[in-house]
Amino acid sequence: MDVTLRCRAYPGEGTASEAWRHIEIHRQIRNHAIRDYYSHDYGNRPTAYDQHRKLTDWKQQWLLFSEVSAHAAQQTVSEIHKNVETQKSRRESGYKTGRLKWQGSGERRSVAYQSEGFDVNHTTGQDGYATLRLSKIGHIPIRAHRELPATENIKRVVLKKERTGDWFVYLVTERPDEELPEKPQPDTLDPTDCVGVDLGILSYIHTSDDTAVDMLDLSDEYDCYGREQRKLDRKEHGSNNWEKQRQNVARAKRQIKRKVLDYQHKLTTWLVREYDLVAVEDLDVKPMLETSQNAKNKQDAAWSRFLDLLEYKADLHGTHVVRVEPAGTTKECSECGVETSKPLWIREHSCPACGHTEDRDLNAAKNILSRGRKQIGAGRSESTPVQTALPTFTPLRVDAKRVVEAGSPEA
Ligand SMILES: [Zn+2]
Repeated sequence: MDVTLRCRAYPGEGTASEAWRHIEIHRQIRNHAIRDYYSHDYGNRPTAYDQHRKLTDWKQQWLLFSEVSAHAAQQTVSEIHKNVETQKSRRESGYKTGRLKWQGSGERRSVAYQSEGFDVNHTTGQDGYATLRLSKIGHIPIRAHRELPATENIKRVVLKKERTGDWFVYLVTERPDEELPEKPQPDTLDPTDCVGVDLGILSYIHTSDDTAVDMLDLSDEYDCYGREQRKLDRKEHGSNNWEKQRQNVARAKRQIKRKVLDYQHKLTTWLVREYDLVAVEDLDVKPMLETSQNAKNKQDAAWSRFLDLLEYKADLHGTHVVRVEPAGTTKECSECGVETSKPLWIREHSCPACGHTEDRDLNAAKNILSRGRKQIGAGRSESTPVQTALPTFTPLRVDAKRVVEAGSPEA
């Protein structure tokens, strides 16, 4: 599996402006490759290989294109073919996708080198720093919090300028599968080490163990973002002050992103450490219901990153993650399996067939768990008699703050 390390980068002024110039050229290469791609009829479009060969001609026609690293230029071309593949699989999952879009000036923010054209020098003499050399761009000091991989183990390097103006480097290495911890055999899984997770609308997550973790409160961060945005609106567009304020807006926005990401990191780490099997809904095929399309899309994006993080960490920890069919998880009774529709505002599951009553999300989480166990071959989970004997609605409600501070929902 691929493991990505993110490091802060500190290019000198000259190197930074050269890197930015390269990124701009890559933007033009990308746009050019997109135009070439769509100029052919469907079914007759060039492959990545075709376009790599065409690069040579393009470079003769547009000399600018040969000023960047040839390897990096190939990566830029390959990128659109990867994008096309991603779109294809999203279409197959029922999403609407358009054509790849052109990148406007300033929209492209990164350049990638694969296999060649870079090296990392660890002996800078400065503790905690290394130097990254990128072909045709130059030498860039990077902050190394832990030991960085040797150059020959690095598969891919990405240099990125964030909208805040800060630079980052991503080092991608491949961790051989045999080095990863082994996952337990499905038929040996202890039911108490397995959990179903309902990705919530009211709660962030609700587990089949009846732990409900709240949504993160971001109201202060959104206030701050709104304030900075209003200040920006009052500045003269394009002036120096406007440019400074635009960075403040980007910083406020990044603060929100960071806080959400940190929260997702903590929750996913807790799940993979606590359990041997985590069952979740497969959101790519989740029917579009219950919320507006826009809200839904936003939530989908956040959840899809949550699931990616979860799967990534599960591999590192030897935990199974099973994505299950999401249709009907809230309707089905976790006790007897009979389906009953209920609108979103009905927070209680009350089964007309067997009389079982419990929190709607808990019921869903239990269904997700039993689908997950079945799917992986661990058998149906025994519904715990303790749970049904309890008076209803006593979930462990966990404040998001506790997760942020303690790193897990546990006290
Ligand atoms: Zn029932």
